[in-house]
Amino acid sequence: MTEFTYRLGQKRNIVTALPGPRSSALDTRRRRAVAAGVGSAVPIYAADADGGVIVDVDGNSLIDLGSGIAVTSVGASNAAVAAAVAEQARHFTHTCFMVSPYEGYVRVAEKLAELTPGCQDKRSVLFNSGAEAVENAVKVARLATGKPAVVAFDHAYHGRTNLTMALTAKTMPYKSHFGPFAPEIYRMPTSYPYRDGLSGTEAAARAISQIEKQIGTDSVAAIIIEPIQGEGGFIVPAPGFLPALAQWASQNNVVFIADEVQTGFARTGSWFASEAEDVVPDIITMAKGIAGGMPLAAITGRADLLDAVHTGGLGGTYGGNPVACAAAIATLDVMHAWDLPARAREIEAVVKPRLSALAEELDAVGEVRGRGGMLAIELVRPGTTDPDPELTKRVVAEAFSRGVILLACGTYGNVIRLLPPLVIGDELLDDGITVLEDVLRTTARV
Ligand code: PMP
Repeated sequence: MTEFTYRLGQKRNIVTALPGPRSSALDTRRRRAVAAGVGSAVPIYAADADGGVIVDVDGNSLIDLGSGIAVTSVGASNAAVAAAVAEQARHFTHTCFMVSPYEGYVRVAEKLAELTPGCQDKRSVLFNSGAEAVENAVKVARLATGKPAVVAFDHAYHGRTNLTMALTAKTMPYKSHFGPFAPEIYRMPTSYPYRDGLSGTEAAARAISQIEKQIGTDSVAAIIIEPIQGEGGFIVPAPGFLPALAQWASQNNVVFIADEVQTGFARTGSWFASEAEDVVPDIITMAKGIAGGMPLAAITGRADLLDAVHTGGLGGTYGGNPVACAAAIATLDVMHAWDLPARAREIEAVVKPRLSALAEELDAVGEVRGRGGMLAIELVRPGTTDPDPELTKRVVAEAFSRGVILLACGTYGNVIRLLPPLVIGDELLDDGITVLEDVLRTTARV
C-alpha cells in the first residue's frame, strides 16, 4: 500500500455524546436559518477533515465511510490540493472562461481527454455540478442527432434540476410535487441481477425491444446510464448489459452517455467504471471526485458531437472556475502519484470478503456487491428478498453513535453503501468495518 501522509490523527475518538453540545447548538441555529428541504445524513458539524476522519466542533473524530458522497477520494484537505487552491486564489479566482480564458481550463480538458476511455478525438466542457453536466450532455446529444427522446433507466439518479429530476427514477424525496417534468424522457428496465435474475444480454434485449417498440429508434437521441447505479442502490448490471446497449446505440445513431459522476476518478478500481467492460461512451459526465472537493463537473465526448454545438450554446458564468481547475489538476496528479485506482482495488480486496462472510452468517444481508471503493450491502427481511429499510436506518444510526459515518441509498432505502476516501489507511478502514460488522450482528438479530 502507498504510504499516505496525513495532517490529522487517523483514529476514531468519541469524546462527547453524539451530537455533542456545540453541534446541537449549531443545529438549533440551522433550523432557524436553513430551509428544511436540505437534509443532512448526520447531525454533527464539521470542524476539520483529513484522510479518513472528520473531526466535529466538539472534538469527536469520526470515521468517514462516505467521502461526502464519493467526492473526497484524495482526502478532504489534501496538502497538494490545498496548496494549488491557495496559489490560484492568490492570482485570480475568476475571470469567466467565456470572457477571458485561462490555461487551467484547457489543461483539465487535455487531462480528461487522456484519462477517459477510448482514443478517439475528444472535446470537453466544464461545469459546476453533476446535474449540470448531465443537462449539457443531453443538450449536445439532441442537437447532434436532431432527435428529441432520451432513455433513462429504473433506479437511475442523475440530479435534482428540472431535466435531471425527469431522468431520476425515485420520487421521494427527489421529485415528489416538483413537477411538471421535462418531456421526452422514457424509462426502461435496467439490469438488477439480484432482483431480476436475467443475464446482461437478456436484460439488454428487454430494454432494447421496449425502446424500439415504445419510442422508435429514429426518435432516440441518447441513452443515459450509470455504469454502476449510485443513489439507486449500487446496482452492478450483469456482465454484457452495458456493452450490448452501447453497441445498439452506435448502430442506431443514438448517443451513449455514461453518467460517471459517482463512479469516476478511480472510485471503482479503474479511472472510469465503463472500462471494466471495455465500453467507450460517446459522452461521459463527471463531477464529484474530479477536484478533491472543489465544485467542478465536466462532459467529455466525441469531438464531432461536442463541436456540433454553435459557439455560445454551452457554458455558464462559473463553469470551469480557475480555482476548481487548479484543484482538479492537483487532484488528478495525486491520484496518479498514489495510484488510487490500485488503492480502490485493495479496498475491495480487504472489505468485500468480510462483507461476504457477513452475508453467509446473516439472513438479513441479501447481497454484497460493488467494485473497488464503491461497495454495498442490500438488507432484506430474512428468508425473503423484501427490502428492509428500517433495519438499514437502525444500522446507520447505531454505527454513527459509535463514530462511523455510513450512508444509505437505494430505491427501497435498504442499501448501505461504503465510499471511503481512497486514501483511508488500513487500520482506520479495519476499525470502521469492524464496527459495521458488530452493529450488523447485533442489530440484524434483534
Ligand atoms: N449523476 C450521478 C450518477 C450522481 O450520483 C449524482 C449525485 N449523486 C449526480 C448525477 C448529480 O450530481 P450533483 O449533485 O453534483 O448535481
